[in-house]
Amino acid sequence: MSKNKSSESVKVVVRCRPLNRKEDTNGPAGGIVQMDLGLGQVILRNPRAPPSEPQKTFTFDAVYDANSKQRDLYDESVRPLIDSALAGFNGTIFAYGQTGTGKTYTMQGAWLDPEKRGVIPNAFDHIFTHISRSQSDKQYLVRASYLEIYREEIRDLLNPNPGSTRGLELRESPDTGVYVQDLTSCVCKSIKEIEELMNVGNQARAVGATDMNEHSSRSHALFLITVECSQPGPDGRKHIRVGRLNLVDLAGSERQTKTGVQGKRLKEAAKINLSLSALGNVISALADGRSGHVPYRDSKLTRLLQDSLGGNAKTVMVATLGPASQHYDETLTTLRYANRAKNIQNQPRVNEDPKDALLREFQREIARLRAQLNHRKWRSKQKKEQMDDEDWERDEDEETECEEEEVEKEAEDYVKLEEQRLEREKEAIREDQFLLAEEKQRLLGEKEKMMGDLRKEQEAAEQLTAKYKAMESKLLVGGKNIIDHTNEQQKMLEMKRQEIAEQTSKERKMQQQMLVQDEETLELRDTFTSLQQEVEAKTKKLKKLYAKLQCIKAEIKDVNSEHVRSRQELEQTQNELTRELKFKYLIIENFIPPEEKNKIMNRLTFDPDEDQWKFQPLVPAESKSSQMKERPASAVGYKRPISQYARVAIAMGPHSRYRAENIMFLELDMTRPNTSSLDRSAEAESNQSSSLENSPTKEKGIRKSRSWCQTQKSITSSSSNNSLMACHTATPTAAQ
Ligand code: ADP
Ligand code: MG
Repeated sequence: MSKNKSSESVKVVVRCRPLNRKEDTNGPAGGIVQMDLGLGQVILRNPRAPPSEPQKTFTFDAVYDANSKQRDLYDESVRPLIDSALAGFNGTIFAYGQTGTGKTYTMQGAWLDPEKRGVIPNAFDHIFTHISRSQSDKQYLVRASYLEIYREEIRDLLNPNPGSTRGLELRESPDTGVYVQDLTSCVCKSIKEIEELMNVGNQARAVGATDMNEHSSRSHALFLITVECSQPGPDGRKHIRVGRLNLVDLAGSERQTKTGVQGKRLKEAAKINLSLSALGNVISALADGRSGHVPYRDSKLTRLLQDSLGGNAKTVMVATLGPASQHYDETLTTLRYANRAKNIQNQPRVNEDPKDALLREFQREIARLRAQLNHRKWRSKQKKEQMDDEDWERDEDEETECEEEEVEKEAEDYVKLEEQRLEREKEAIREDQFLLAEEKQRLLGEKEKMMGDLRKEQEAAEQLTAKYKAMESKLLVGGKNIIDHTNEQQKMLEMKRQEIAEQTSKERKMQQQMLVQDEETLELRDTFTSLQQEVEAKTKKLKKLYAKLQCIKAEIKDVNSEHVRSRQELEQTQNELTRELKFKYLIIENFIPPEEKNKIMNRLTFDPDEDQWKFQPLVPAESKSSQMKERPASAVGYKRPISQYARVAIAMGPHSRYRAENIMFLELDMTRPNTSSLDRSAEAESNQSSSLENSPTKEKGIRKSRSWCQTQKSITSSSSNNSLMACHTATPTAAQ
């Protein structure tokens, strides 16, 4: 990747936790990690190697040893990133390392102990303190989401849906890039609110897992904060900048053994670290810079972090290490991983006036509600003025200059006065001796209705006000003291701390540069007075270079053996999968009819977004509606599809009890009905026991449709059945 003006590399810092009690007592080997804080170097000792073997040294942007404080890491390595996010950049911090090395401790820490609060709670403080101290012409909207990726499924931790087996989907839009569809995003107005969200999410994470340790070490947790800031620009218009922060606690980086498991468990095991190995591949591809293809699409995590790795974001990676000698291999892998990530170049830029800024929508909605509210109040005020003095001529200027509060007060007065007036009028009506009772009731009813309307209007206004206030409260305005401890002294202290942190990192950079330059210019500076001196100097240099060569050789050997190991694992996984495939084939070939198999195969398509095979619908979606409207094709010569049995039955003649076609013969009687028939039919109806043979319809000559039902009429004896049948058969006749 070529460096350009706006590009900056991923900042990588390494942190080593103290030895824990178990490791302390476990052996004399002690720690294998040494750190040079000034130079930002980690020196790793191989406990299995002979003492003569050179130690491995890695250089990073900063290193934090076992004595480091949470605050040190935050002030020096994280604070600048959060400041950038507040200025409208995308920012990502991810903790990478073996399980138990302090990823969660670094990201979250112990919330209740101010000394041990991690990156996330410190970032909350930082964001809201910044807002409270900013100028009053700035408006902020802070939103947060919390999700986890477990077995390649995305789970919304703020709205976990235990019923659904499928996780959330990833979508891509040209404006915002990759995002999670339907992910809950909550507006937060204070530190307390955002901390509560984090708690809710953490609890959901714990509840969803049978074994919390196992679960948390295998799932990735992403806390996303969006800070939108609106500020008037030089052109007088409000401009919005959107900073997005991804705070990521990755799954444990240790190698998950996939071998020796079968079937469903094999698939699960294969998915567990898919995101992490994909992350490794993405980092390698980006660090390498030569390969054009970066495999972001290989996993959900890499797709979500696409911008953070090689894209529009500032990124900090915190690699965590354990000092114990038994984890040498994992520690070395982590350091290599981190070392590679240093070379990734990002192109961060300020997100100015993006289309999807929620703040703009909020501002518009608030303006609309405000206009509505003002309109209502003005109307009430005008009505009051009309009530007060019909003849009074208002001065237009005075009206426009009128204070908003006054309008509100007058509107309230109007409602009160109107209520009193209606009450008085009701009383007058009640006491009026000359009104009729009915008239009184009507007038009172009218007044009651007017009171009801007034109350409804008042309620509507109250609702509108509540909605307006709720919306407005979501926007945080700079200059307001939304947290308690924002006194000047604290501000100064923070600034000083920041200065020190900047100074330290500057010094470290300079020392690192000096070291590199020293090696390069060693030869140039040396002037030799004698041959002996020259030999000595060159031998010294040769020794140095030889040591370097040995280091590189050892490195190559390590990398090779690592590759061999991972290849063996992959081969074993492949063998397992092939065996499973053979098993499935056996079932398919022997137990599924070939035509069924073909039908199924033809309907299957692969959905790369969801990484799944899917059945195509039997009827293509676009032709579904038109096809459903059509009648099914009929057999030739028949009105509708007809069965073989029906055809035989028809061929046997009209006496068959089975009729497929023309179940009813509808012959119309064309004689005009007259009233006598109606009278007689009424008579007949009163005669409940009359049979169909004697029914007036028959008498009058209205022939009922012949139907196969009629052949049964002699059997049916109940009159109710007859009348029911008459009703049934008469209907089509009438309809004709
Ligand atoms: P991970 O999330 O990487 O699996 P944890 O953050 O849960 O690891 O840390 C494992 C244990 O080590 C915890 O008990 C934690 O308190 C402790 N620990 C980790 N890092 C530090 C540190 N820098 N200082 C003190 N204790 C730490
Ligand atoms: Mg953890």
